[in-house]
Amino acid sequence: MKLHRRMRTFLKKCVVLCLCANYSIAMSQQEKPEYVLLIHGGAGNFNSLTFSSEQRQTYSNTLEKVLQLGDSLLKIGVSAVDVAVACVAMLEDAPVFNAGRGAVLNEHGQYELDASVMCGERLSAGAIAGVSRIKNPIQTAKVLMLEGKHVMLSGIGAEVYARTQNQQLVEPSYFFNQKTHDRYRSIKESGGGTVGAVVMDTNGNLAAATSTGGMMMKRYGRIGDSPIIGAGTYADNNWCAVSCTGHGEFFIRFVAAYDVCALMKYAQLPLEDAVFEVLRKIHAAGGSGGIIAIDKTGNHSALFTTQSMFRAYVDSNGQRYVEF
Ligand code: ASP
Repeated sequence: MKLHRRMRTFLKKCVVLCLCANYSIAMSQQEKPEYVLLIHGGAGNFNSLTFSSEQRQTYSNTLEKVLQLGDSLLKIGVSAVDVAVACVAMLEDAPVFNAGRGAVLNEHGQYELDASVMCGERLSAGAIAGVSRIKNPIQTAKVLMLEGKHVMLSGIGAEVYARTQNQQLVEPSYFFNQKTHDRYRSIKESGGGTVGAVVMDTNGNLAAATSTGGMMMKRYGRIGDSPIIGAGTYADNNWCAVSCTGHGEFFIRFVAAYDVCALMKYAQLPLEDAVFEVLRKIHAAGGSGGIIAIDKTGNHSALFTTQSMFRAYVDSNGQRYVEF
């Protein structure tokens, strides 16, 4: 029985090597870190080797700054939720990712932003979908979560709510970015660069947050996986915290983020196998993307079935990387 299980695990790992053109699994062999932060800036079919050195610099500097912010906050005991939201808000402000300021356009050339956050300690959550005037949808999602009355608000209702909560509103032109605009005009290309963070804080609490402009040329009114709790975002202190990126329709249908937790909980899979299994199922159905996840013991996993994924990691043991 044991041999059979080991054999299956081995075979699965062989498949993942073929499945992912690039991949990254990092399981800490050291003692359990006191805190962990893993972020992503979207999975896509880009070849980072073709980036100019200026582009590489911009991406690494941005991810590095987010790591620095998260690291300094976690060091002084800031909660997992606050760190996840602060990091994602910083990524929303960076025009190089498809969230907040760098959001892609829908079929009518408009911005419709989605974001969500989940607290693994309380299983509380907040989500904002289809907004075009909220500067940092992830912060409004957190306010909604803390209020505790509703989990998800969309469109104009979400914007009216944001105003009552003193959230910063902007003209849609704030999200304008020449690069995504040119891309919109020239090709109907699916966007990458959704952002997300998963965090374990010094109290052992987990949190996950995700924010996106959605998929380039999406239908007006389309909502992806990112603001859907269980699909694009999930956190439960007993198991793991998960943030997804990729073809949202597949991540919704496969309830991807929750499925990582469910595989750990009901099938006793370790984190990396659970993440792999979810991506394998989505891949088999014709979808692609990536998942970042951490478990309650501080293991982390960043896997993708696209050509690449922006990702960066830091923990209290001094482990750190920025990759894409
Ligand atoms: N998952 C996002 C969506 O479908 C897009 C992405 O991650 O690239 O809206």
